[in-house]
Amino acid sequence: MSLQLNRLVSALVAAGAAVVLAASPAAAFAPPYDPEPTGPYAQPTDANVPKRGCATTLSDPTNASGSNPAIQVIYAWHDGGGNNYATHVQNIAKIVDRMDWSLDESTNYDQHLNLSCRTGYDTSTYAGYAQALVVPEKIENGVIGGETPVGVITADLAAAGYDTSNRRYVVFEDFDGTANAYYDPLNSIGVATADGWASGTVLHELLHLGHPNYVDHSKVTETPNVLSYPDVMSNPYYDWLLDHNFNTYYDPSETGATFYTSNYPDTRKVNVAAWPYFTTPTCCDVGYSNDLLTAQERTIEADAPYATPSGFTASGGGWMQVTPPGPDAATSARYYDGRRSLTMNVQSHANGFVSVTRKPAVTAGQRYRFWAWLTTSTSGNVRLRLSWYNSSGTLLSTSDSSLYGLTTSWAEYSVSAIAPTNAATVQLSVMSPSGQTFAYQLDALQLNHCNNGKTTDGCRLPG
Ligand SMILES: [Zn+2]
Repeated sequence: MSLQLNRLVSALVAAGAAVVLAASPAAAFAPPYDPEPTGPYAQPTDANVPKRGCATTLSDPTNASGSNPAIQVIYAWHDGGGNNYATHVQNIAKIVDRMDWSLDESTNYDQHLNLSCRTGYDTSTYAGYAQALVVPEKIENGVIGGETPVGVITADLAAAGYDTSNRRYVVFEDFDGTANAYYDPLNSIGVATADGWASGTVLHELLHLGHPNYVDHSKVTETPNVLSYPDVMSNPYYDWLLDHNFNTYYDPSETGATFYTSNYPDTRKVNVAAWPYFTTPTCCDVGYSNDLLTAQERTIEADAPYATPSGFTASGGGWMQVTPPGPDAATSARYYDGRRSLTMNVQSHANGFVSVTRKPAVTAGQRYRFWAWLTTSTSGNVRLRLSWYNSSGTLLSTSDSSLYGLTTSWAEYSVSAIAPTNAATVQLSVMSPSGQTFAYQLDALQLNHCNNGKTTDGCRLPG
């Protein structure tokens, strides 16, 4: 079944509940294939997608209990359409390789899927690798002439021995099935399924399994319940990237940090970068996004409402606090990444500054972009500022954005500039020109090193 609704449903929370992907574009390829995602920039061609290869190899993939955590890829078929394993096996392996590429390419961290393979094939050839990677399984109780529920899949896999706790099963359904992430409470296995085959869809479903009670569709704006930004968890049909803000469900730079994965009052916190089914992320290579801030500097989450925000400094006309409780949409006091934001109470007597206290290291001659989400319940104007320092801590110069008129809706603002000669560190500030009296909220900061080489200025795109 390919649902035609071009929207997303919220994830179900309860353990054992399925997380169904309810969106699909018009299929451009013949089923079971769906189009591959193309944003934020095109994937490499089939010939150029890196071959991920096997993290572990077993003689019997149903006997994996002593093995390291890994992903087992299954080709599932039933008597309705027959066994077309030979036709599809290399294409399925190519989709899995694209999932791995998407994970790795999303950020400047090197991170990959741990894939489980079986012995008996020459993995130096692509045909042999594909057959070692993808195991065929007949779903005896598959529904002919209708949709096969995911519970039928998990029951069949468990009966066949695919039921070890150190495996997550990625199931390519060659029949009318569902795009789903499902922890089967009866058989204690986790599966990601798809009957429309594309790397974005399958990676989306796999990422849902990154928390025992599921990773939600990402909340990548400050606005409660909005799910519209480019992300494989928001729109896997077009976007292959993971959490470019490093603050919703995936932060490879600080795997000990976790983030709320859904709206208040949901309390699930997650960082899928620490999932054992992926390799440990290592810095640094070139990817779509990166971030030079800490999780606290990004989210303002460590402190209670009314407190002084850790890691920030205010000076000049204004004083800061962790946003007190208030209307959700106006204050972000509960919603979004850390459920908290920073409030700057602007005073008129001087230019006001709120700054990240720490000055991250930069390389002279390279471009950087400072991003921040801002809103106000009234109105007022601010600029974003990059202040460049040399290795002795002497201020060299500043780079300001244009003057932004803040509104009652959260929006992302940014400033980018090339680090000047002799620059060694940068300080990030939001500056409110003197003569104003108002309060604004600040959250979701990011400092991007613009070196991906694939977007216009090398920085990630807004959103
Ligand atoms: Zn989903």
